[in-house]
Amino acid sequence: MSADCLFCKINAKEIPADALYEDDQVLAFRDISPQAPHHFLVIPKKHISTINDIAEEDCQIVGHMQLTAAKLAKQLGFSQQGYRTVMNCNQHGGQTVYHIHLHVLGGKPMGWPPYQETLKTPIEQ
Ligand code: AMP
Ligand code: ZN
Repeated sequence: MSADCLFCKINAKEIPADALYEDDQVLAFRDISPQAPHHFLVIPKKHISTINDIAEEDCQIVGHMQLTAAKLAKQLGFSQQGYRTVMNCNQHGGQTVYHIHLHVLGGKPMGWPPYQETLKTPIEQ
């Protein structure tokens, strides 16, 4: 647990969340600001700040996050139509909460690519 981490506080039930699933490794809850008809997050119980901080020993947990996403998408009824899982990393990735989380977005068709022309970063930067 990291003292100032929002998602550690949600894991510890210090801050409420609209939970969908929980086990000893992960918690899934609805995103407070949904960007699709279905938008929930899957987070590990273990505090891991960013994708860059995932260690070899965390590989099973990260796989379990993805599997949990797929099981919940099926339970919620949008797995066959399709959905997107996203894990943002650091500033360019758009990360705002520094405890890794898998976004699961579904319920309507999505576009690609996920950035705007004006935000494109020149290759040399
Ligand atoms: P990211 O920008 O990838 O770090 O995603 C953080 C996500 O956490 C955003 O989609 C927020 O809407 C979501 N979020 C922030 N606070 C809460 C909260 N208390 N409960 C549920 N979702 C939250
Ligand atoms: Zn945390």
